[in-house]
Amino acid sequence: MAHDAPQATGPSKLVIRNIGLMLSGALEKPILDADTIVAENGKITGIGRAKDVNTEGATIIVDAHGTTVAPGLIDSHVHPVAGDWTPRQNQTNWIDSYLHGGVTTMISAGEVHMPGRPRDVVGLKAMAIFAQRAFWTLRPGGVKVHAGAPVIECEMVEDDFRELAAAGVKLLGEVGLGGVKDGPTARKMVGWARKYGIQSTIHTGGPSIPGSGLIDKDVVLEADTDVVGHINGGHTALPDDQIRCICEGCKRGLELVHNGNERSAL
Ligand SMILES: [Zn+2]
Repeated sequence: MAHDAPQATGPSKLVIRNIGLMLSGALEKPILDADTIVAENGKITGIGRAKDVNTEGATIIVDAHGTTVAPGLIDSHVHPVAGDWTPRQNQTNWIDSYLHGGVTTMISAGEVHMPGRPRDVVGLKAMAIFAQRAFWTLRPGGVKVHAGAPVIECEMVEDDFRELAAAGVKLLGEVGLGGVKDGPTARKMVGWARKYGIQSTIHTGGPSIPGSGLIDKDVVLEADTDVVGHINGGHTALPDDQIRCICEGCKRGLELVHNGNERSAL
């Protein structure tokens, strides 16, 4: 497995040449005037036309044969569990397989599919810290997984958020997948999370997994999370007028999902 491979010794210089189309990932300038990438010791040091970049001393040369090169995609909403295994479809190597779709970075919206997921405060904090640590160390297929996203429960106090942040937790799992399903409690805890630099997201719409509930526009707007998760559903989308309300009333990020309701997305 890739993550067990020994670290390469000595300097490396990768040259990818003969690239037909180079995408930047930036909407302002999506196409770059370049056919060559140079990466030294794992970091990109040059992008441009072959005659303009320094390709001397390459240790690996890849001929792209005129194909397109694009930055890796970021999936803003995944539910990792442990290693490259998910009990949801009882599948192993799903992250490694996902890489083949071009996704190189994943952001956890909560490790909610963990069998026997603890709901008590000590347990949920321990699980979040464990997930953050484990995925920081492990990169299945090279994919970077930002995990360790606790799902808030009513018994939590401000100090829990301070403690989580100090331990390296930077994300909240989807608000609404745990015991907190009301606007005022969610808003209070999201505020604590924000105070300590933890980014928050909320489950929007109908119930998905057992234990999740209907989160409507009033809860979404009051909770004021940094991201409004799957605003176009994924399972059951909110009615159109509620989605419109959120779009018009919310100043935070809106997440659209490809596996949601496409008509609602429009
Ligand atoms: Zn959700």
